Amino acid sequence: MAMNTLDAKQIAQLDLNDPLGRYGEEFAKPSRENGEPWVYLCGNSLGLMPLGVPAALKVETDSWAKRAVEGHFEGVHPWMDYHQRFSGPLARLVGAEESEVVAGNTLTVNLHLLMAGFYQPDNRSNDHARNIILMEAGAFPSDQYAMDSQIRHHGLDPKRCLVEVTLPDDRAADPTAPLLEQIALLGERLSVVMLGAVHYYTGSFFDIPSVVEAAHRVGALVGLDLAHAAGNVPLELHAWGVDFACWCSYKYLNSGPGGPAGLFVHRKHHSRNDLGRLEGWWGHEAATRFEMPRDFVPATGAQAWQLSNAQVMAMAPHAVALELHDRAGMEALRNKSLALTEMLEAVLLDFLKNHPELKGRILTPSNPHHRGCQLSMFLEHRGHDLFDYLHRNGILTDWRNPGTIRMAPVPLYNHFADVLAVQEALRSF
Ligand SMILES: *Cc1c(COP(=O)(O)O)cnc(C)c1O
Repeated sequence: MAMNTLDAKQIAQLDLNDPLGRYGEEFAKPSRENGEPWVYLCGNSLGLMPLGVPAALKVETDSWAKRAVEGHFEGVHPWMDYHQRFSGPLARLVGAEESEVVAGNTLTVNLHLLMAGFYQPDNRSNDHARNIILMEAGAFPSDQYAMDSQIRHHGLDPKRCLVEVTLPDDRAADPTAPLLEQIALLGERLSVVMLGAVHYYTGSFFDIPSVVEAAHRVGALVGLDLAHAAGNVPLELHAWGVDFACWCSYKYLNSGPGGPAGLFVHRKHHSRNDLGRLEGWWGHEAATRFEMPRDFVPATGAQAWQLSNAQVMAMAPHAVALELHDRAGMEALRNKSLALTEMLEAVLLDFLKNHPELKGRILTPSNPHHRGCQLSMFLEHRGHDLFDYLHRNGILTDWRNPGTIRMAPVPLYNHFADVLAVQEALRSF
């Protein structure tokens, strides 16, 4: 979008014509101490609350109060089968079959459960042993700690068995290329590629089908952390042949702090009995679960990976939020997202050009296919001043050391006017 300044009238028209515009009204607007609403650009960190959440919670607290244990079998959504509510919307969200997805636990827990199942390293210490986990450098710390401890759990050394691939510095470069190169280099020694599909710090969206192809060619598996991808970018986990994946629901999925995570296991692994899966009673085949049998009979597909009965109070908001995503549809969301982010990018590039003294640059790839909605701007000088300044001027962004401001215009509830507000604020910095 070639423009030096956004025109307020044009922006108002864009918002009027936006087919997703009215979804903004379905969310609570956080406000500043002076009562003015924030321009909220932190949906990559914690999504806004859908207005339907309190009523959905009340349905469950009322059922608990009125029915107590009978709530498992009675009421609007009996708790016994509560997790079944998510199969359809989650399958559509990540491009999976219904039997491949399940909601529950939290993200890091699911990451560990999946790795316990799929990371079966060869722990002989020779140069051909298949025991390496490959991940992107600078991954979210919880993922790094999880991979280190998975490796140690098998009596192996993370220094030898974890390879973290440095990503290109140049935003014009393809962020996936170094991953493909390293996968081919590791060859038969590679066990699992465990990748954040959208990088939490830079916002880079990797080319998942080519990662899967490269990894499968050398006999390795591909697991994805979709924390920054689910609800942000179009996903086709089944068709791409991704082996397993997990995600959280409180970022782009607006399901509230600590909300239930999701888990995907590709159908091709459903009837395997050689996985090191950790099991609990909720993963048992539903029809005979309450016969309390001594031996575990797995439920079909991803549901076999459940451990515990449904976290109903956390899942009620999740159902409300997923319904909004489902109704909006990923295609419409992505179309608006591309336009919003391109517009914000133009505003930021213009700002950086006018302020060479800040020595700033955008870290997020310039190719729209290689990113989601988030833009990360690194400033060598006065980064925190700018972050504070935006905060004082009603624009809520996210600060990451050493000098990065992350901004996510979220297509489900942000408006083009929010980008205009950023431009207005930046003008007098
Ligand atoms: C947000 C995020 C997490 C957080 O993990 P929780 O278990 O939900 O606390 C982990 N990994 C990535 C990549 C994230 O973006």
